Amino acid sequence: MNAQSNSKTLMEIKDLRVWYRTTRGNAQAVDGVDLTIQRNEIFGLAGESGCGKSTLAKGILGMVKLPAFVESGEANFYRSVSGSTAVASDLIKLPARDMRKMRWRHIAYVPQSAMNVLSPVARVEKQLLDAIFEHTNMSKKEARDRMFECLDMVGLEPAVARMYPHELSGGMKQRVTIAAAISLKPELIIADEPTTALDVNVQQVILQELKEIAADLGLTLIYVTHDMAVHAELADRMGIMYSGLMVEVAPVVETFKEPLHPYTQGLISSIPMIGGGRERMTGIPGNAPSPLAWPAGCRFHPRCPYVMEVCREKVPPMIEVAPNRLVACHLHPTPLSESASPADLSLPDWEEAVSQAPVVQAIQDIKEGGETAEELS
Ligand code: ADP
Ligand code: MG
Repeated sequence: MNAQSNSKTLMEIKDLRVWYRTTRGNAQAVDGVDLTIQRNEIFGLAGESGCGKSTLAKGILGMVKLPAFVESGEANFYRSVSGSTAVASDLIKLPARDMRKMRWRHIAYVPQSAMNVLSPVARVEKQLLDAIFEHTNMSKKEARDRMFECLDMVGLEPAVARMYPHELSGGMKQRVTIAAAISLKPELIIADEPTTALDVNVQQVILQELKEIAADLGLTLIYVTHDMAVHAELADRMGIMYSGLMVEVAPVVETFKEPLHPYTQGLISSIPMIGGGRERMTGIPGNAPSPLAWPAGCRFHPRCPYVMEVCREKVPPMIEVAPNRLVACHLHPTPLSESASPADLSLPDWEEAVSQAPVVQAIQDIKEGGETAEELS
């Protein structure tokens, strides 16, 4: 560990690769992620199921266990020790004992299912107090006060402390896990699809609460979900992952107003519009590739309606095309100010482009030539 001058950066991930050993070779689930997380932001990690979001989260949390392993890379965490200094630790190289201390105290985790973390045989108060005692030197009185404060913050009555998990609804259980995560006042919380198992209305309320808590406590939140609508509501800045890589990182407003990567455009066009009078969603043609064999060049090229020759050959580097806007796409090889703006590229509209995309054409050919389809199946 070495002392660093304080900055806005809380975390700096460099060329992180987290792979899984399988009988068919290495599944390169996270395969070269570069990402910087700022203090006090809500960072939304987006991308279709299977793109590597959870594997990246586990990498950052030091929870990589076989068959997963860290192939290479760094995850530098700048823990603040006083108002003006921060101490950097590479979480990848941190010994397991130090990482356990770091987790909860400085970096907390809210998993997808409360079932995975709450013990069915202990009352809520025991579970919360045990976590507090394990990581701090608080007195019993201080710990209990802290526990009730946290329960209150997540909208739970003090009486919940005496209950067992089976006496709580799904939403209440998930609130308990959030109370546990904030109980040690960590600097960073990583929440991996924490509300996907819940009813939509409960989801909505919990998301709003989480946003308020993050602002009140001044903490940084990395929120993982494939649900773009949630990101629109919650995130300050977001990162879009595709096939183990970050393809676009930008403030949430720019991401939705002017998505630069065709994959981001596809994700946005796939959001169901409630009451928007839009019956048919365009979606993204084709399927995500396998992490056992990524396509050459840009990994999105087989599904991209704007594919060019260069896309099949060269991996597009991540470029800062405008302040705070990063994209890895051959359509944007230079900063926006120096090149044509996306509007000037005179690309067809996403929906129109998709209908012309090679994958869609191929599917249509199969459908039209009935016999060919049978031969192929
Ligand atoms: P996401 O959270 O975005 O849905 P994951 O990080 O869970 O994605 O998975 C990324 C990729 O890693 C997927 O292609 C998945 O099949 C693969 N993967 C996940 N767990 C394992 C495992 N235990 N063994 C082999 N491959 C795995
Ligand atoms: Mg996941």
